[in-house]
Amino acid sequence: MKIICVGLNYRRHIEELKWKEPSEPVIFLKPDSAILKNNKPFFIPDFSNDLHFEAEVVLRISKLGKGISRKFAHRYYDSMTIGIDFTARDMQQKFAAAGLPWELSKTFDGAAPLGKFIPVEKIPDHGKIDFRLEINDELRQQGNTSDMIFSFGAIIEFVSKFYTLKTGDLIFTGTPPGVGPVKKGDNLVAWLGDEKVLDFFVR
Ligand code: MG
Repeated sequence: MKIICVGLNYRRHIEELKWKEPSEPVIFLKPDSAILKNNKPFFIPDFSNDLHFEAEVVLRISKLGKGISRKFAHRYYDSMTIGIDFTARDMQQKFAAAGLPWELSKTFDGAAPLGKFIPVEKIPDHGKIDFRLEINDELRQQGNTSDMIFSFGAIIEFVSKFYTLKTGDLIFTGTPPGVGPVKKGDNLVAWLGDEKVLDFFVR
C-alpha cells in the first residue's frame, strides 16, 4: 500500500510557513513503515530538533481506480480518520533552501500516526468536516474541510492521473494552521467531528 500526502492545502497554513499557494496539489508519498497505529507512542527521532505535528483528515481508498473524475471520487473511499503528518521542520527547511527534495523530513519511521477510521456513511457532508487537535488538553489546530484549496474530489482526480489507487491506500489531505513542535511527554488527541479518533503520547 502507499500513503499519498497533499502539502499546502490550507491557505492560512501556507501563510504561517511563508510558502506560496500552489496552482496544483503538492504531492509526496510516505512508506508504510511510517504508520503508527492503535495510539502507540511516537518517539522523537534524534536527527531533528524541531519535530512538528500536522493534523490532517486521512481518506482510506476502498476500490481500485485510475483516471478518476472528481464527480465519482466519493465512490473510491469508504472511511476517514485524522492522521499526523509528522515533519522534521528543520530538515525540511534545510532541504528546501538548497532546492533539494525534502522527502526524508516527512517519511521516517513513525511519521504517520493514524486514528480510528470512521465509515463515510457516518459523516454527513464531506465538504464541511470539522476536525481539531488538542495537545495536553489545549486546542492547537482546528480545521474544516471547506477551507481546503483542493477538495477530496479534486485531490483524487489529480493523484489518480499519476498513481493507480488501490484498496487500503491512504490519502493525507493537508493541514490547517497552528502547526508547531512536539516535546517528550506531550499527549496528542484528535477529533473528527465529535468523535475522538486519536490519542497518543510523545516519548
Ligand atoms: Mg502535511
